[in-house]
Formats: sequence, C-alpha cells, structure tokens
Amino acid sequence: MFSFNIRMFHRHSRWLCALLLASLWLCPSPFTTTASAKDFVIVLDPGHGGKDAGAIGVKGKEKNINLGVALKVGALIEKNMPNVKVCYTRKTDVFIGLKERTDIAHKNHGDLFISIHANSVSKKNKNRKTIRGASTYVLGLARSKQNLEIAQRENAVIMLEDDYTTKYEGFDPNSPESYIIFETMQDVYRDQSIAFAGLVQDELSSVAGRKDRGVRQNIFYVLARTSMPSVLIELDFICNPTQEKYMLSEKGQQEMAQSIYNAFASYKASYDGENIDLSKIKKRPDPSTVTDDTAADEADESEESDNTPAAQTGETVYKVQFMALPHKLSKNSKEFKGLSPVEVYYEKGYYKYTYGASTSRKGIEADFQKVRKLFKDAFIIAMRDGKRVQ
Ligand SMILES: [Zn+2]
Repeated sequence: MFSFNIRMFHRHSRWLCALLLASLWLCPSPFTTTASAKDFVIVLDPGHGGKDAGAIGVKGKEKNINLGVALKVGALIEKNMPNVKVCYTRKTDVFIGLKERTDIAHKNHGDLFISIHANSVSKKNKNRKTIRGASTYVLGLARSKQNLEIAQRENAVIMLEDDYTTKYEGFDPNSPESYIIFETMQDVYRDQSIAFAGLVQDELSSVAGRKDRGVRQNIFYVLARTSMPSVLIELDFICNPTQEKYMLSEKGQQEMAQSIYNAFASYKASYDGENIDLSKIKKRPDPSTVTDDTAADEADESEESDNTPAAQTGETVYKVQFMALPHKLSKNSKEFKGLSPVEVYYEKGYYKYTYGASTSRKGIEADFQKVRKLFKDAFIIAMRDGKRVQ
C-alpha cells in the first residue's frame, strides 16, 4: 500500500494543485440534477488518430476502429434522442492531444464522457492471438504492474506532443511515480461511471457477443482529467486476428455502436428520473476488487477451458448455485460454510459456485433445501456442457 510522503508531495505539488484547482472550478456537485431545460451533452472520444495509430493489428489500426464505432454511436443518438447533444473530440483521422480531448469535454459542458479504444497485449504474451473480450474502465488505481502497462500504453501518446513537459506539468506517462498523485484524487462521479460501465459491458456481451471481461479501473489521463462521469471502453483485442476482423467489419462496428447506444439510453433513462437513480442499474462489483493484470487474464482463459471439457455430453444437469464472486476462492474456503464438494464455473466476470448435481429437477430438490438453510438466496440452475442454460 502506498503511503503519501512530503517529498513526493513537493515533487508533484504543481501538478497536484492544478488538478485540485481544475476539479474545484469545473466540478459542480454531482447530485444536482441537470435541469431538463439543458440538453444532455455526451462527449464521444475516439482514441488516437492521425500520426498516433494506437494498437496495430494484422490488417487494421486501432484509431480507425475507434473512430468508426464512435461515429456510429453518435449517429444513433442524433437519430433517436433529439434532446441529447453529441460532441466529438475528433470526427476525422487527426491527431488530438489528451489534454485537448478533456478541454473539449469541459468547454462543451459534457454530462458523460466515453473514450473508445481497442485493446492489445504485448508480443511476448503467449495469449496474444487468442485473448479476447471487452472491458470498460473507470478511473482508479492500477492494481498491478501489468495493469499499469495498459495505462502507460494509452497515455504514452502525450509524448508525441512537442511541449508535453510543460503542458502536462511534469506528468511522465512512463514513470510509475507520476501515477502516484492520483491516489489522493476524489472521484465524485465514481458511482455513476461504474453504473454506466456495467451497462456498456452488459450490452457489448449481449448485443455484440463480446466476452465480458468486466468493469475495471485504471489511471487513464482522459478519465482523470474529466470532471464528469467518464469511462474508457476497450472494445476487444486487435492483436487477436478473429476479433480484429470483427472490429474492422461494418457489422461488427454497427453492433458495438448499438451496444454503447443501448447502454447510454438506459443510463439516460435513469438520469431523467427525479435524481440520478443508480439503484435501478444492475450493480457490478466495485472494480477496485477486480484483479486486472495479464497473469489473471491468462488464468481466466484457462479457467473457462478447464470447465468446458468436463461434460460435453449435451445432457442437462441441475445444480444449486449459492454464490457469485469476482475472484476465485480456494476449494476448502470457509465461505462455503462447510459445503463440500463445491463446483465453480466462470461466467460474465464472475466465479459462480454450485453444490450438488442431478439430471432431474426433482433430484436436486433435497440439495437445494440443504443449501438454502446456509445461503438463503441460493437457486437451482440448469447446465449443459459446462455452460448455464437456464
Ligand atoms: Zn487506445
């Protein structure tokens, strides 16, 4: 755990003060609902552009995927939601610095900021060609060294700007120390950002068929400097040729845009209520509890394949599900309250724990009664070939 010290404060005080001043000046209370007279302003930020291609695939460049999807999201909103003003940080293939992007958001009094990106892992990663799935990020501390690499990759664009040392007040995207100052930042929009991020993940998995890698947190410059609810979407992995092909296709871009649009429509509906009623939005686990590093990604991939070969029989098996967690427990964990043996399957970012197995619904009833005494929310599920079917 990091402990803040004076020396560090001095070194970063200019940057820190600028941040604090900017947030005081730019942050209205997050709970004052925007009067209905004012149109809702959505800021769409297609990552990279111009001389900054972003991550590179076999055939395509990240910057073009980001722009294609952002323009389609904007078109859907403009067509269907006349009270929403759509504002872009770029509409063409041009280079825009990260600071300019957040300036555009503030100048237009954005109510929600959506940065759109495609993900990639390093050439050394053995899962490079198979890794897949969408993640949506909110602002928060990087939980590991590998995680910091993602932030460094997306923030490194700063160094393409000639005057970056003065413009970014000493912030060096490659220095882990530069990220430490964010520890003290209060993100008053965190709950709203998490709620919206959860909706994006739900839609990207159901509408666009992306693997759900969950709502995560990291220090992206554009999220740190926007005084409004803000998320950064990594649509899928451009280093995986199958996902790259999908993201480059018209159909893929349209589906992903529709997903983001649907998420926004749900978010806006709750925003239009008397207050921003986040309780209407399905809760995701707090991203600070979600491990986000390459090692875990590898574990996730093997986790799923471990589960599937067990029962490729096409037979329906009933089980009692009693717990779902974003992290994995050991086989003999006390949290199971003595239930044994316990099985686990992985779905949509959660490890889901079950007890018992029967090929008939009647046959699982006794186990269900037993589990329900320990976990009152337990319920019966049906699984086929390692996947839940009802
Ligand atoms: Zn990017």
